[in-house]
Parts: sequence; structure tokens; C-alpha cells
Amino acid sequence: KQRVLSGVQPTGNLHLGNYLGAIRNWVDLQHEYDNFFCVVDLHAITVPHDPKKLAHDTYNIAALYLACGIDLQYSTIFVQSHVSAHSELTWLLNCITPLNWLERMIQFKEKAKKQGENVGVGLLDYPVLMAADILLYDADKVPVGEDQKQHLELTRDIAARINDQFGSPTQPVLKVPEPLIRKEGARVMSLTDGTSKMSKSDPSDMSRINLLDPPELIEKKIKRCKTDPVRGLTFDDPERPECNNLLNLYAILSGKTKEEVATECGDLGWGQFKPLLTEAVINSLSPIQEKYTEIINDRGYLDSVLREGRHKANLVAHQTLTRVKEALGFLLVL
Ligand code: ATP
Ligand code: MG
Repeated sequence: KQRVLSGVQPTGNLHLGNYLGAIRNWVDLQHEYDNFFCVVDLHAITVPHDPKKLAHDTYNIAALYLACGIDLQYSTIFVQSHVSAHSELTWLLNCITPLNWLERMIQFKEKAKKQGENVGVGLLDYPVLMAADILLYDADKVPVGEDQKQHLELTRDIAARINDQFGSPTQPVLKVPEPLIRKEGARVMSLTDGTSKMSKSDPSDMSRINLLDPPELIEKKIKRCKTDPVRGLTFDDPERPECNNLLNLYAILSGKTKEEVATECGDLGWGQFKPLLTEAVINSLSPIQEKYTEIINDRGYLDSVLREGRHKANLVAHQTLTRVKEALGFLLVL
């Protein structure tokens, strides 16, 4: 079986963007692959973080992976910092990655802008750590949202550079992975601004629908979300990013095609459409929320999942790390 790797940062609450852009696709595809899904806590400290929340958020995200339908029969769930090879390979990759490749990254530029003088080296290095995550598992496919496409290309470039410098065409050092970006849901936009993506780190909770939001809060967020005064609802109008986003969300969550939604909603006003969207969101999230409650109340079980994940991930990661060290010429004493 081909290998899949992906992850989410414990920087806050999982939202509809994370679900539709990433996790839902992991779940749908998991039977076809051998999967590793990590909670990337080392990534979460590339922006200022609260040490009192990190462990809690990490735990929460692992529980949500299970609640969303990740099946341990096909998939391994683990915490990035439990596998030290991620940090070690990052150093090795750092030393062959040109600085200007990182300075070009859109996510770095955007997140750095928000932090002014306090930008840490880790934020610049984020994509190299992500490359290490992926390359350690010889991943064939990496299912992510649209915003990670540039980082995936960088991962491919880094792998190709290592292979070029330290491998041979018949014996590459690292596997060059492919991104897996499903068109629907690849870029869910903020509820308060249809031109920026929904994010965990957006300071306003009203900008996103979290997977664990109760029905009343979902209703309130959709009631207050940004719309426009134009009559009728249409897809793909560049002047109406909010309208396009909300219609797309409705289509995906109700399981209807764009054409069906265009016919159903074309003549509706916002006051008529919003209750339909609210119901579709609540119906999609309630089974996840029920399962989450079961899992989070059984800490012993979740601990055992993460312990097992740590063990399996370490076995694979350690092998790859040794292979890279050999290729780079390090002294290995048995
Ligand atoms: P942060 O704001 O801390 O960066 P985030 O919401 O961007 O958080 P990440 O942990 O960075 O979430 O990303 C996890 C996965 O979710 C990635 O595969 C990413 O591409 C995907 N993703 C994030 N936001 C969206 C979105 N708005 N639409 C679709 N996919 C998304
Ligand atoms: Mg992000």
C-alpha cells in the first residue's frame, strides 16, 4: 500500500476548514493507504503559544481525529514531539535548504506580518519541519488544504535536492511526495471576511465554525456572518466572495451538487438561506460531537492510542533518519 501522511497544529479549535480541507479526505481515503496522522505540536510553537494550553489542545485534536472517523485499523495517530526524528531530520534538511526558498513562502510572509518584531526563526523554518514530517515516512501522498500547496512543493524540492546531491537515480535517499488536494472544501473562507481563509489562529471566534460548537452558537455565527445586499444567491461571482463561500459550504455539507444548490437557492434571500445552511452544519457536526464526548471521557483509551502511535511512528521514522545520515556521510557506530 502507498503511504499517506498529514497533520494539524494544536493552535486552537478544529474548524470546518480543517475538516473539509483535510480530515474528511483522510477519512474517505484511509482504506486505500497506510496512513500516519500526527498532531504537529512542534509546529504550534512557531507562533507565540500558551504553555498551559498546548497539551490540552494536542489531546483534543487527537480525540477529534478519532471522532471524525480515523480508523486505527488503517491509520496511526501520534504526536509529533513524541518522535524526536522530526527535529533531527529538520536540522539535516535545514543545512541543504537555501534561505531564499523559505523567504518566498506566502504563509511565512502573512504570519510574520502579524507578529512585527517578534518573528521567531521557527516560523521561517516551519516548512522545513513540515518537509521532515512528510519525508520521514516516505509518504507517497499528502492530503492537505489549498493553503499548504506551496509548502508541499517546497518539500518536493528539498527531497529532490537531497537526492541530487547525496543519492543516485537508482537509489534516491528520499521519496518525493505528491500533494492530494480535493477541489471541494480545499479553501473554506472566514465567516467575517470572504477573502481570507478560515483559521484556528484568527483572533475572532466569530470568523469560524468549530467542530465542537454547540447548535445555538452555530446558529448565532451564521446569523451574524458577513453577507451582501445583492438580491439572489450565486456561485463564483468574484464580487461576492462571502456568497460563494456560504453556498459552497451548503453544497458540501448537504451532499448536493452545485447545480442543485444553484436551482434551490438562486432566488432565496439571506434570511431564507441561512436557516438551511445552519441545519446542514448542525446535522453534519452532531455525530462528530457525540463521538468526541465518548472519546474524551476515556483518557486511558486515548493515552493507549497515542502510546501505540508513538511506537509505530518511531520505528518508521528512525529507519529513514538513519538512511539520510548514512547518505550524508555521518559516522554510524553500531
Ligand atoms: P493556523 O491558523 O494556526 O495556521 P489553520 O486553521 O490554518 O491553523 P493548520 O493546522 O495550519 O490549521 O492546518 C491543518 C490542515 O487544515 C492543513 O491541511 C490545511 O491545509 C487545512 N486547512 C486549514 N485551513 C483551511 C481552510 N480554511 N480551508 C481548507 N483547508 C484548511
Ligand atoms: Mg495554517
